[in-house]
Amino acid sequence: MKMRKLLALGLSLAMAVSLCGTMAFAEEETEAESETEAALVITDDIQEIIDRGILRVGVKNAVEGFGYQDTLTGEYSGMEIDIANLIAEELGVDVEFTTVTAATRTELLDSGDIDCVIATFTITDERKESWDFSTPYYTDHVTVLVKDSSEITDLEGLVDKTVGVSSGSTSARSLVEAMIDAGVISGDDYDSETFDPALWTEGVSFRQYDDYPAISTALESDEVDAFCVDKSILAIYKTEGRSYIDAEFAPQEYGVATTKDSGFSTYVDTLINRWLNDGTIEGFIEEYALD
Ligand code: GLU
Repeated sequence: MKMRKLLALGLSLAMAVSLCGTMAFAEEETEAESETEAALVITDDIQEIIDRGILRVGVKNAVEGFGYQDTLTGEYSGMEIDIANLIAEELGVDVEFTTVTAATRTELLDSGDIDCVIATFTITDERKESWDFSTPYYTDHVTVLVKDSSEITDLEGLVDKTVGVSSGSTSARSLVEAMIDAGVISGDDYDSETFDPALWTEGVSFRQYDDYPAISTALESDEVDAFCVDKSILAIYKTEGRSYIDAEFAPQEYGVATTKDSGFSTYVDTLINRWLNDGTIEGFIEEYALD
């Protein structure tokens, strides 16, 4: 009897010890797992890219440090180009770049001409309804470029002026919201749901262009008083006799855009998170002096 009790006690002790051991092991495993990235699953849409042997990426061609094409060699460079190359490397395929603008990038993605957009594409709630975006890899701000001769130096100076923006961009909306926040226009008629740059005339108005060189030319010929977009994009147009106004607003988080609900969206997001965690993205920001 005594012997059996002892045996039972011994057995339950052994079970308790092994249970604790398992629990501790399980805990260790969960900790380890949370540091590990999600598995990269090859879905049918990704397999298509692999079978094709080419990842087709929409990029900018005149945003230095992001997507810039050398006019002589045709070579693209910048952090968005590097990100595209890394995704292609991971897939084991070549990369093919297509120059896109704010006006063309979504059409090209929707038509299947390109697999993703890595082109200073700001993540917004409205856009997220139509496309998937990766975790942001960079945050920029919007500002305004003017000719020094205009003597415009701040948001107040833009009242009753005409501003050049790119169609398909967040710029006009960002500027109107910044002017309302600064109290230089009333914004009584502003409705973020229905805002249309072409129709807005309350305190500032807009002319929309298909690309940035066209806005720069319009600024030079005084067709517009100012040129508004993300600072990274404006940089190349800030030539002699032109300055930024004294205001930066509307944080612009750039993400890689992919077809909504596609397997490739998850794949790309996993990679972007890997490169945010392991310092790769930070390395690009330093390399191209983007901070
Ligand atoms: N980043 C802004 C946007 O996505 C400016 C436009 C552009 O990227 O060209 O609307």
